[in-house]
Amino acid sequence: MRQNLVAGNWKMNLDYQAGLALVSEITNMVADEATGPQAPQVVICPPFPFLAGVGKLLPAGGRFHLGAQNCHQQESGPYTGEVSARMLQSVGCEYVILGHSERRQYFREDDALLSQKVKAALAAGLQPIFCVGESLDTREADETFDFIGGQLENGLFHLSNEEFDRVVIAYEPIWAIGTGRTATSQQAQDVHAFIRERLARAYDAQAALNTTILYGGSANAQNARELFAQPDVDGGLIGGASLKSRDFTEIIKSFS
Ligand code: PEP
Repeated sequence: MRQNLVAGNWKMNLDYQAGLALVSEITNMVADEATGPQAPQVVICPPFPFLAGVGKLLPAGGRFHLGAQNCHQQESGPYTGEVSARMLQSVGCEYVILGHSERRQYFREDDALLSQKVKAALAAGLQPIFCVGESLDTREADETFDFIGGQLENGLFHLSNEEFDRVVIAYEPIWAIGTGRTATSQQAQDVHAFIRERLARAYDAQAALNTTILYGGSANAQNARELFAQPDVDGGLIGGASLKSRDFTEIIKSFS
């Protein structure tokens, strides 16, 4: 079901003690804020070794949820160093980020592999946060919509309606990730509207309306309110600013 949502992607940052301190600060600061009808769900995505400890610090049954940054496509087996979706679920994860551009670029994860990871995550009861987004070259060549349409089709459209219901999409233009260069709110809205239109064609209008679509790419406490005010932007996937409790809390409060 569509909802306002802010997810913090810690990437490969902090150590365990710093991670626990950060999540304590965030939960304390957010608990002090009034919760209105627009108040978002919050997903914290720390590195694998911190998951169980961070999960214990998230108030149960509330708006905080635990997420991972990746999972393997197989259920179990001889895959040294890998982590399955079922393992993530067993330590309390409800979400997993899949298809982040850093995984696509540095670990050569392609649409075919990602389509298997999405299936594995759903089978284990996790909600994938599936990332799509174009490079600067693609944008400048005016091929953004075709490119993102392809990522959606190849990564997600093998799912049944019931499966697709549990997918969150994050639009993350690669040129905006970690660069300090944010998409304008209009650029974000245009792509989000395009994504919703593609979902309506692949599934149906209701499925498209029900899908949570996040923006990611140098979102911060200053620009979040304008981004989140766009009609098709339901929240954010936040990298750098999720590592600072005050900034992340301000972003969580940026829904009007
Ligand atoms: C991300 O990596 O998902 C991200 C959005 O990073 P940043 O906010 O730092 O651009």
